[in-house]
Amino acid sequence: MEENIGYSMLRNPRYNKGTAFTYEEREKYGIKGLLPDKIETIETQILRVEEQLENFEKPINKYIYLMQLLETNETLFFKTIISEPAKFLPLVYTPTVGQACQELGHILRRPRGLFISIDQKDHIKEILRNWPVKDVRFTVVTDGGRILGLGDLGINGIGISIGKLILYSSCGGVPPEYTLPIVLDAGTNNEEFLDDPLYPGLKRKRIRGKEFDDFVAAFVEAIQEVFPKICIQWEDFTGVDAIRILNSYRDNICTFNDDIQGTAAIATAGFISISRLMEKSFKDQRFLFMGAGAAAFGIADMLLKKFIRDGLSEEEALNQIWMFDVNGLLVKSRTDLAEHQLQFAHDSDPSDNFAETILKIKPTAIVGVSTVGGAFNSQVIENMSAVNERPIIFPYSNPTSHSECTAEQAYIWSKGKAIFASGSPFPPVLYDGKTFTPGQGNNVFIFPALGMAIFATEAKRVTDDMLLTAAEAVAEQVTQEDFEKGLIYPNVNDILKVSMKVAERVAELIFESGLAGVEKPNNICDFIKSKMYVPSYDIITCNNKP
Ligand code: NAD
Repeated sequence: MEENIGYSMLRNPRYNKGTAFTYEEREKYGIKGLLPDKIETIETQILRVEEQLENFEKPINKYIYLMQLLETNETLFFKTIISEPAKFLPLVYTPTVGQACQELGHILRRPRGLFISIDQKDHIKEILRNWPVKDVRFTVVTDGGRILGLGDLGINGIGISIGKLILYSSCGGVPPEYTLPIVLDAGTNNEEFLDDPLYPGLKRKRIRGKEFDDFVAAFVEAIQEVFPKICIQWEDFTGVDAIRILNSYRDNICTFNDDIQGTAAIATAGFISISRLMEKSFKDQRFLFMGAGAAAFGIADMLLKKFIRDGLSEEEALNQIWMFDVNGLLVKSRTDLAEHQLQFAHDSDPSDNFAETILKIKPTAIVGVSTVGGAFNSQVIENMSAVNERPIIFPYSNPTSHSECTAEQAYIWSKGKAIFASGSPFPPVLYDGKTFTPGQGNNVFIFPALGMAIFATEAKRVTDDMLLTAAEAVAEQVTQEDFEKGLIYPNVNDILKVSMKVAERVAELIFESGLAGVEKPNNICDFIKSKMYVPSYDIITCNNKP
């Protein structure tokens, strides 16, 4: 079928400007008459998007509409998202993306990204070469093993990869043409999906063990060959797989795991900003975790690094970090601890009572990563208030129903003293005539900026030092005014500005550590800016496209 170039451009989301094509462009590409005559600005187009979004009541329908916009006009999509991140991010990412993943088989329109099943293990390079862009720099890869707190969502987990890459571009400036969402399909243990005729993935139980690891290894080898400058971000693998995969590759290729390292960095950023704003030394913080799984270890590891960066010895640092799991306090006398848990086990009496342990250990902060909704009960918060003037309460389990306590409970039970941040969002709370805005430990302040720094510098590795530097840079941008409102993270609507500074700091470290793949520029800030994606029709060059 013969097509004129203008007609193809109208159907290519990367080059489409819709009603904003100028007279000259319409003339040049043969678009005249294919659009209403009136030329519109992108601002007018955003008004139309907003009005159409208003027509949908349910967030999931807004999500579907926005994803279709992404498939129609990429520039308009990203310009819309960044026009008001606080409003649009929850529609394209958490919490709506969770439902989108659960229902992907039913709401599927045009599949996006690459689907690599274990049956194609010997053809991965061929699949990767089918992607139309030849210089991919950033991929978010999942196997759908544990999507958010929603469990095994199999191939539908690609929704998370797509959502996250949208954030890399809109909140960090990584150009979308360099990004690629991928799902590795090794089956699913989700019985509902296995019985659902509309589930689009392999209809078999998950393949595990060596066969799965060989599949991941084949993928890593293939993607390194096809896209040599790639950075792989592992996303939402189950805890054990996530740790094992990260540890297998982190020292040899450019890779990281946002669930482990990004979560750790954003939590650490919160504690650094609290310490700074309370004019307290970070070294005086003492942490008690409820939950000793993947998330807990990621956070604890980064706290350990921060303590050591601030001058404590490893022994002193370990003394400031305590953990409690389903069987109680991690102490040396326990015989059920896994290898990686031993480091955080102390010489202390066993305890299976979290609230009592608080009175004994006197933590300044409690961190909930147990997946047990309501586990921070009134006694826990009251005991934290008894040993701290301003108790730091971080229930990080997702989704909201798994949160260890709500923001309202934390403020009421602490009589308005709690400094609160959670994994899932909570609305502002009015207590004793004062409005408290609960913080949300949203990784969006970390990974898009980290991604931008990696992209711009063509970094060879991703180190924990880079994540810690990102955390410090985020914390520095919280103002006393934010803190007085209860905020310990910057305002999400300032995300691009915040990301720029974070990317600059991380890029500096990448150059200093000799991990950059490009020459160090004179001015890192200008360098990052020059590489940054800006959604604008002015910079779309249509010359030899599509
Ligand atoms: P995991 O299954 O690896 O670990 C859970 C831990 O909780 C285990 O150590 C278990 O022993 C412990 N536990 C269970 N019941 C308990 C109880 N009653 N009392 C004390 N401990 C108990 O899970 P994970 O991957 O570490 O994730 C934990 C939570 O953290 C999830 O809800 C996840 O959504 C959340 N998380 C949040 C973010 C974020 O960005 N906020 C990121 C990653 C994970």
